[in-house]
Amino acid sequence: MMNPYLISGPALISFSGGRTSAYMLWNILQAHDGELPDDIVVAFANTGKEREETLRFVHECGARWGVRIHWVEWRRGRDGYESVSFNSASRDGEPFEHLIAMKQRLPNGMPGQRWCTEYLKVRPIFALMRDQLALEPGDYEEIIGIRADEWDRRIEGLARAAKDGRSVSHPLCTAGIRKPDVLRFWLGDNVDPQEIRHPLPQGFDLGLRGYEGNCDYCFNKGKAIIKRQIRERPGSEAWWAMQEIGIGGTFHARYSIPQLVDQVAATPELFDEPAEDLEYDAECGLICPSEAA
Ligand code: SF4
Repeated sequence: MMNPYLISGPALISFSGGRTSAYMLWNILQAHDGELPDDIVVAFANTGKEREETLRFVHECGARWGVRIHWVEWRRGRDGYESVSFNSASRDGEPFEHLIAMKQRLPNGMPGQRWCTEYLKVRPIFALMRDQLALEPGDYEEIIGIRADEWDRRIEGLARAAKDGRSVSHPLCTAGIRKPDVLRFWLGDNVDPQEIRHPLPQGFDLGLRGYEGNCDYCFNKGKAIIKRQIRERPGSEAWWAMQEIGIGGTFHARYSIPQLVDQVAATPELFDEPAEDLEYDAECGLICPSEAA
């Protein structure tokens, strides 16, 4: 069987900043003897609401593995994006906030309302490809880190790409890689990434639990995760609450962030989330985590 990680350019590797796409990037690098050809571009789009751990992880992958990862952020205007770095990346939600101000509404999980991925992730990365290789979507292969156990997302992504005339491939699916494989690669014998008791196989890790990745209070995460984060990191919800108050809307159809803050304040010790609700680990990149929902 051909090595699924051996990729022909021109290609775009979408790096979400999570363990799965980092695992994919590492394998692609191995298949290419540690060095990618010039016509294979690796890109990470920062929304401004990524956790600091995510930014550090992306930076470490690039530095430790000797691979150029292009950091981009959405900007309103002709170019549609700006190149940034670990040091200059937005950390207070600026790209997301400017997008909300432009739209004068909030994204949410309803069909047709999940436009933040399109603006904050997809468009800046495509604009980067235009600048780097003078190519349009469809002229190159999009390499996306969807695992074999994310079958629904794969089907949805393929259908969407076919409709848009884009070409996508999912090497982790071809290789049969599932979530436990990725966790073993990064965590080894450790169970909780925030309680490291054994050596980390790669010498570093994201350091976040699955439900903490990408935009911290993403509307796809569900009530249990939002409440847990309010309990674990009081004040971290402030940016999201401010957006709701400023626009006069909510990210979630059935509740607002301030309402959940009140609920947590009423039961500060009560962890009432079913364990399976915390299993969320979808990575947001060229495909929205809720595309399969
Ligand atoms: S992680 Fe969620 S809130 Fe952030 S861009 Fe993706 S879909 Fe939107």
